[in-house]
Amino acid sequence: MQTYDVTIIGAGIAGAGVAELLSSKNYSCLVLEQFSEPACGTSSKSSKLIHGGLRYLENFEFGLVKESLEERAYLVEHLPKLVQLKSFYIPLYTHSFRKPWMVFIGLSIYSLFSWRKFSSIPKSKWKDLDIQTKNLLKVYAYKDGVTDDKALTTHVLNTCDCTVSFNATVKKIEDFKTHCIISYQKEGISHQATSKVVINAAGSWVNEVLNLCTSKPETLPIDLVLGSHILVDTQIDRIYYIEAKDKRAIFVRPYHNGTLIGTTEVPVSHPQAHTKVPASDIVYLLDHFNHYFKTQITTANIIESFAGLRVLPGDNKDAFKKSREVQIHHDKINAPNVYSIYGGKLTTFRSTARKVFKKIKAKL
Ligand SMILES: Cc1cc2nc3c(=O)[nH]c(=O)nc-3n(C[C@H](O)[C@H](O)[C@H](O)COP(=O)(O)OP(=O)(O)OC[C@H]3O[C@@H](n4cnc5c(N)ncnc54)[C@H](O)[C@@H]3O)c2cc1C
Repeated sequence: MQTYDVTIIGAGIAGAGVAELLSSKNYSCLVLEQFSEPACGTSSKSSKLIHGGLRYLENFEFGLVKESLEERAYLVEHLPKLVQLKSFYIPLYTHSFRKPWMVFIGLSIYSLFSWRKFSSIPKSKWKDLDIQTKNLLKVYAYKDGVTDDKALTTHVLNTCDCTVSFNATVKKIEDFKTHCIISYQKEGISHQATSKVVINAAGSWVNEVLNLCTSKPETLPIDLVLGSHILVDTQIDRIYYIEAKDKRAIFVRPYHNGTLIGTTEVPVSHPQAHTKVPASDIVYLLDHFNHYFKTQITTANIIESFAGLRVLPGDNKDAFKKSREVQIHHDKINAPNVYSIYGGKLTTFRSTARKVFKKIKAKL
């Protein structure tokens, strides 16, 4: 049986981040991933932003925004080929729910945390923008980060000195006092590995994986929310942050010779990869694009669509109001060696890894 310090379940950004940190500290790690390559779950279906999360300020998540902006600064400096700062434009109309003064306050806090200025685009320059200018009141511009989520995850995993096994589906975790035995299936053959600690970085499958523990540990209640994007063949010049009719945020950005539009939020009951975008989400995204932009598009312009799942706390709050903070869950009594990552962001994969390490350091 192979023996490691840590077994990490999941080769999404969370698992890759933990593997990167632990291997840099010379711990031996095994990463097990059920699919044939990294980032097949949510980590290739995000909005591909490395951002503080301007809208989280509305929920007073100041700590999360500050931490995310610090991570953004690190990634922009250290991975310039993968993460770049770009200008984002926020158009505000007479019918917008958020008034210019509200956005001004939010951007002031954002710029204070990030040391990056924002500005207001003069009316004389509005004609250069891709958006409709009728009833336009104000346009703000601020800086945020963009990436390719799959390329970022793959890069992080590739820089680790650890063993990664693809097409390896974890089937059972036996948790003993000092170690765990992990049973997994790879290409029809059963394998086993043993490690001091197991990190459950299974994303939306987090509770499914925790339920594989023979000790039956406690799981946290979660809500899974599906977010969809469409990539259309229309070209725009800039990145926009627009307000949906239901007050949610929609990002519209140039991406791979087209325009990426997203995201929506629809509750779902089961974790799934390669989820189909619901037809209602396609209509919702096309409608919003056509409402705000000069160019008009139809389903014929869609090149690709994809959907990913957010893991949010299972409370009674509206998805928009739920906390986006990561939780590291550890059932000390039933599963003393298994640590589960609930939620989180692409942007904060390094700080999530540090939080995980803080919890498992003594064990290692
Ligand atoms: C629509 C949407 C947009 C988003 N946009 C942004 C954004 O712009 N910026 C940002 O910072 N964050 C964003 N996020 C959040 C971010 O994308 C996620 O927090 C992050 O990708 C989750 O990564 P993960 O590694 O936890 O999960 P995943 O990427 O889903 O990885 C989990 C992995 O575990 C594997 N796995 C599961 N079960 C098993 C098993 N039994 N055996 C082996 N392997 C298993 C899966 O195959 C999967 O590869 C967005 C999220 C969504 C849903």
